[in-house]
Amino acid sequence: MLTDVETLVIKIGSAILVDAETSRLREDWLEALALDLSALQDKRIILVSSGAIALGRQRLGLFGKSLTLAQKQACAAAGQSRLTRAYEDALGARGIVTAQALLTLNDTEHRRRWLNARSTLETLLDLKAIPIINENDTVATDEIRYGDNDRLAARTAQMIGADMLILLSDIDGLYTADPRKDAGAKHLPVITSLTDEIKAMGGEPNAATGMGTGGMATKLAAADIATSAGSDMVICDGREPGALAKLWSGGRHSLFKAKDNPRKARAQWIGGTLKPCGCVTIDKGALKALRDGSSLLPAGVTSVSGTFEKGDAVSILSDGQEIARGLIAYDHPQADRIKGLKSGEISAVLGYENGAALIHRDNLVML
Ligand code: GLU
Repeated sequence: MLTDVETLVIKIGSAILVDAETSRLREDWLEALALDLSALQDKRIILVSSGAIALGRQRLGLFGKSLTLAQKQACAAAGQSRLTRAYEDALGARGIVTAQALLTLNDTEHRRRWLNARSTLETLLDLKAIPIINENDTVATDEIRYGDNDRLAARTAQMIGADMLILLSDIDGLYTADPRKDAGAKHLPVITSLTDEIKAMGGEPNAATGMGTGGMATKLAAADIATSAGSDMVICDGREPGALAKLWSGGRHSLFKAKDNPRKARAQWIGGTLKPCGCVTIDKGALKALRDGSSLLPAGVTSVSGTFEKGDAVSILSDGQEIARGLIAYDHPQADRIKGLKSGEISAVLGYENGAALIHRDNLVML
């Protein structure tokens, strides 16, 4: 199942990582996960893990109570360090380097931060580290709901262009009805399209109660984001230690098929969905370089117009024709100051640099 998968996002829910009765970490489970991950050293892997609040409850003595938002945030703060250390210890014992990244859902929706988060994660993956992501609950302004991380994991898969997202859940996939209540519920092994009928199977989102799971509604919302971004999504039962190994060997799961491949989906997003906020005009040399598959360097830019922030979409013009679109690495006053310069001169002029390219090839689509 993993033959064509290069980049993989795995979401781990509180309910499988933390024991519901004691609010303690399931160390045997985590050790088995580390073993499973060590067999996947050739893949680029990101973990999105919940569990901060559940672990923090125990540390702060707020066990078994319903919590206010501020208490949840306090628990997240106390539990997150414990969570990070647990991953560092368990995966470190298998020679895997981990890195903590706390995001908010907003980061993944706000392109400027999104680009920064993306390049940080890419760099970590290039360095063979496994980023461990959780929501930055201490700064969250909305109610923290269990299931938010399903969506965060899907946004992460989108951000990084993952080929597959796996949700390790407390159920082995999508059923036509809730199998805990309806004996006639049928398991669906492959879902090729998120029709209204499929979406209705998710039911209503669960309210935040104790250690509850995100329910199917948030998982289907995640499937919508992931499959539209070109990532396949899998739901499987992650409760037993060795859940990934079991999945690889054909364990029961539901597979939601991606609508396209990640590259095409991203090209569609940059070239079709986003509205350009400005334009840069380029010279003949840059036009040739772009056609040959290079990034757009400041040296090839002759003029800049419009009002845009770093991370916004801009049009790339040659002879008055829009020939490409991309996400720009500098805001408009900065882009204007560095146009025509060699990349090596950027930091002398701006006092910092955000990469040699004005628009990196990965963020650029020829039209
Ligand atoms: N970020 C929360 C935590 O670490 C969990 C959110 C979720 O389970 O979706 O406890």
